[in-house]
Amino acid sequence: MFELTVKTHFAAAHQLTMVSQKCENLHGHNWKIEVSITGEKLDSKGILLDFGVIKAHIKNIIKDLDHKHLNDMPCFEGNPSSERISVEIANRLKELIEDKNVRVSRVSAWESDNACATYFPD
Ligand SMILES: [Zn+2]
Repeated sequence: MFELTVKTHFAAAHQLTMVSQKCENLHGHNWKIEVSITGEKLDSKGILLDFGVIKAHIKNIIKDLDHKHLNDMPCFEGNPSSERISVEIANRLKELIEDKNVRVSRVSAWESDNACATYFPD
């Protein structure tokens, strides 16, 4: 089994409901995102999936989130938690890259240096 991990980041604003009162106020984060892809088989050149392909897809996904008020995006159902951000990124990436050889194994969304939500699809 091989696992490839790509890191990226974006800045955005959000407001959360039903959590600590501080987070109900409009605020922002510089989210750090880690995306991992797993697979069993390498191609004839010894590559699972070109990092450039993963980065290009991630860049397109992040472009939709960067410098946005995430509460305005219907996919977050009014509460754009780091958990839902990692799910959204994983679901979009799955549609773009998954085939019988590779799958998205995890997406982590770090909202600060010491707080991270990780989603494990499947
Ligand atoms: Zn927050």
